Amino acid sequence: VFTAAAIAAAPEDPLFGLMAAYRQDPSPNKIDLGIGAYRDDNAKPWILPVVKKADTAIHNDPAVNHEYLPIAGLGAYTSAAQKLVLGADSPAIREKRVCTLQSISGTGAVHLGGLFLAKFHPQRPQPQIYLSNPTWANHHQIFSNVGLSIAQYPYFSPQTKGLDLDGMLAALRAAPRGSIILLHACAHNPTGVDPTPEQWQQIAAVMREQGHFPFFDTAYQGFASGDLARDAWAIRYFVEQGFELCIAQSFAKNLGLYGERAGAFHFVSAPGADAVESSQHVASQLAILQRSEISNPPAYGARIASLILNDSQLFAEWEADLRTMSGRIQEMRAGLRARLEERGTPGAWNHITEQIGMFSFTGLTEPQVKVLRDQWHIYMTKNGRISMAGLNTHNLDYFAEAVDSVVR
Ligand code: PLP
Repeated sequence: VFTAAAIAAAPEDPLFGLMAAYRQDPSPNKIDLGIGAYRDDNAKPWILPVVKKADTAIHNDPAVNHEYLPIAGLGAYTSAAQKLVLGADSPAIREKRVCTLQSISGTGAVHLGGLFLAKFHPQRPQPQIYLSNPTWANHHQIFSNVGLSIAQYPYFSPQTKGLDLDGMLAALRAAPRGSIILLHACAHNPTGVDPTPEQWQQIAAVMREQGHFPFFDTAYQGFASGDLARDAWAIRYFVEQGFELCIAQSFAKNLGLYGERAGAFHFVSAPGADAVESSQHVASQLAILQRSEISNPPAYGARIASLILNDSQLFAEWEADLRTMSGRIQEMRAGLRARLEERGTPGAWNHITEQIGMFSFTGLTEPQVKVLRDQWHIYMTKNGRISMAGLNTHNLDYFAEAVDSVVR
């Protein structure tokens, strides 16, 4: 019997608990800096104008119905998603060594990739998967749920609030040959710290030496810098270098399709005589895994994304929407740093503008985070991570005043 004593109560998801506490707070000054979803300057969810347009077109299309999609998803969507992440002129696409399945957003893609590696990795026992310390908390849960053993590599330097490149490279050198290395393609969550192109080249060189397998997670392409190619640079570089790798891709943030669960999992086979056949075999096994897990993926978000990705006019409008979102976030970074520096708030604040994407690792300590929440009605995760999208022109002064008061 599943008695209360037999099943321990699980702890509440920290992020969703934070959201609930925020909702219940009656203060007019409250600020939600927890969840990673874009907000406009009035702290409201933003439907991208191009998504509204695509939505209307789908609504008015008499050919659209509610039939099942194929197991691998909507073909026009998966092929466009491939080109978006790898580049339309990617050698891997040209050589037919990429296979792609539509997934339940980025989470589902990470899961499908993890499950595939757990079941089909040619090495037994499977190599460990190395996650950055810290990483998106769900990585730990997803990979341990599929039975992969997890290790970590250093990533964030608390001193510089930037990349601990030496620590990372040393860990990659020390990892057993052929380890799986999870890499955030851009806008690292939770730190907002990304390697520069030169640092990526060093990382790739060590991974090549060690025969490691890159597993890229890309949840912020175009959202980070406003430039889709720039945010995909690392992935394209690794593919150019001839790595066999996989990619979990999400359209939650860059299209604002959070709840529609539009994502894709890509497996890029190594170049060589065997590449096309190996890619077909991988695709066939992934299809069986997909069938047993979700049968077939949800249609609505994929239809919207497919329309936008396959139409040059809509694509251009999307790029403008991406610049709107990333531009507003960059303005908030600059505004926050300027306010803290003007006040002479103790500490250095250059990391606020040097970090990129949805999140910033502020360096605020757990006790400071608690004071911000209890006395200032400002909600953030206890590691001091803030979602930049929660800041706007109406609350920036108040937030800077609060941070100044808790660090003094
Ligand atoms: N990976 C990272 C690093 C993320 O930050 C997120 C979202 O926060 C995801 C994956 C997946 O999100 P979703 O499943 O909503 O696409």
